Amino acid sequence: MRQVRRVVVAGGGTAGWLAAAALVRQLSPLIEVVLIESDAIGTVGVGESTIPTIRTFHDFIGVDEDAFVRATGATFKLGISFEHWLREGARYFHAFGSVGRSMFVADFQHFWLEARRQGFGGAYGDYSAELRAAAEGRFSTDPAAGLAYAYHLDATAYAAFLRGHAEAAGARRIEGRIVAVDRDGETGDLRALRLASGAVIDGDFFIDCTGFRALLIEDALTTGYDDWSHWLPTDTALAVQTDSVGPPMPYTRAIAHCAGWRWRIPLQHRVGNGIVFSSRDMTEEEARATLLDGIEGTPLFDPRPIRFTTGMRKRAWHRNCLALGLASGFIEPLESTSIHLVMIAVTRFVQSFPFAGDDGALADRFNARTRAEWEHVRDFVILHYHLNDRAEPFWRRMAAMEVPDTLAARIALFREQAAAFQDQDQIFRIDSWVQVMLGQGLEPRDYHHLARMLPAQDLQRALGGLDAGIRHRLQTVPSHADFLRRFA
Ligand SMILES: Cc1cc2nc3c(=O)[nH]c(=O)nc-3n(C[C@H](O)[C@H](O)[C@H](O)COP(=O)(O)OP(=O)(O)OC[C@H]3O[C@@H](n4cnc5c(N)ncnc54)[C@H](O)[C@@H]3O)c2cc1C
Repeated sequence: MRQVRRVVVAGGGTAGWLAAAALVRQLSPLIEVVLIESDAIGTVGVGESTIPTIRTFHDFIGVDEDAFVRATGATFKLGISFEHWLREGARYFHAFGSVGRSMFVADFQHFWLEARRQGFGGAYGDYSAELRAAAEGRFSTDPAAGLAYAYHLDATAYAAFLRGHAEAAGARRIEGRIVAVDRDGETGDLRALRLASGAVIDGDFFIDCTGFRALLIEDALTTGYDDWSHWLPTDTALAVQTDSVGPPMPYTRAIAHCAGWRWRIPLQHRVGNGIVFSSRDMTEEEARATLLDGIEGTPLFDPRPIRFTTGMRKRAWHRNCLALGLASGFIEPLESTSIHLVMIAVTRFVQSFPFAGDDGALADRFNARTRAEWEHVRDFVILHYHLNDRAEPFWRRMAAMEVPDTLAARIALFREQAAAFQDQDQIFRIDSWVQVMLGQGLEPRDYHHLARMLPAQDLQRALGGLDAGIRHRLQTVPSHADFLRRFA
């Protein structure tokens, strides 16, 4: 078994620099980290909406929030506004944080459903501070407001910011194009990367962050790919940036169209826009027209097409190679989960680092947990598509398809008794499932009868108390635009 001293990261996009930053920060001087990237090839240039776990990861690698927000033109994100998903004109919000207050025996939705049956109380989302702040365009990191939040960030600036961070902590960068991957004749493990310059960079462990090219994990190691496009058939995106025409809202917009959806991600200095679509149902020209019709502000360049197949690598960690980011697979970006999946994988890799080499046990455990996380995210994204009343052929197919058993069981559980759950290695909380299931029109047949035992005036008082509590928390929260001025 070969000792692992030198880790070679191939690729310097968000995934590569996140990996390098975490490894040097946590494991240096036990290991040496070298990163190879090619300025001539560049990065995918999208990936600008995140979820709150990014803050935990930033703590893990020692990122200062103010410096990060300044360097990446970041804005703050309280959730996602889903528009026209259930049907044209319908709208709901998937907010971060918790909705209402749960009790040990029954979660909040049961009490809310009982109040609705009796004809009082507000909408489910009225009991989310994040949703209410988002709707009013307000934001603050003040602990008194207690808002759960993530960021919108400039992807190119973020990779550059992480690079500075990783290099300062000791990562070494090598500029160059990888043209060949050398393997050990006996073991089949990776041994070195050959660059166009003729340089040979050898290592003990390799991290494939070469994006959709997957040079190490697939070209060299032919690890294989689980294709999930029968469940998530969108396969193309067009992305374009525009200048800002109004104050940035503290949420991402996901706007459904006849064959997919469009995104709108506000940054401090510009807006990221894109369209995701199924090429079976929409031509690139139609998608371009739909995207450009829907944007506000002047496009800063021509929309760039990006093609993908939703799915995951059969093994993220195979032999002495770990794939991260787009090299490890891709679940279309509806719930902004890719960067999170990189962060959680890097964290776990640091926790299970194979100092004395790996004879399979570490990798097997790592891969099992990775698969559980990915399948959970996959199910959550499918849910948005599957439950819909839209009329177009794409949406009818999505409504009629057979979903994974794991998702079918969740839908049945909610339909039967308004129940939802969150297991280990599952990022989406009960509140997330409930918001999307209700938002996509799933009506439970029943709910926990504990909620019926509460006298109506007590239930009314409890909901009133939650409402007043949120109002109190938000009373001094400034507008998002005002809050951002402190970073100018
Ligand atoms: C349309 C779309 C929208 C997305 N939106 C989101 C979102 O909102 N939120 C989110 O979390 N994620 C999102 N993602 C995913 C996100 O963009 C990626 O997870 C993230 O950017 C990481 O990408 P990467 O570093 O794996 O790949 P890349 O950015 O493609 O980087 C690959 C790196 O490998 C290098 N490289 C490649 N080949 C070679 C070679 N031969 N030699 C040397 N270097 C090489 C390149 O130079 C580059 O540095 C989105 C993705 C797509 C496609």
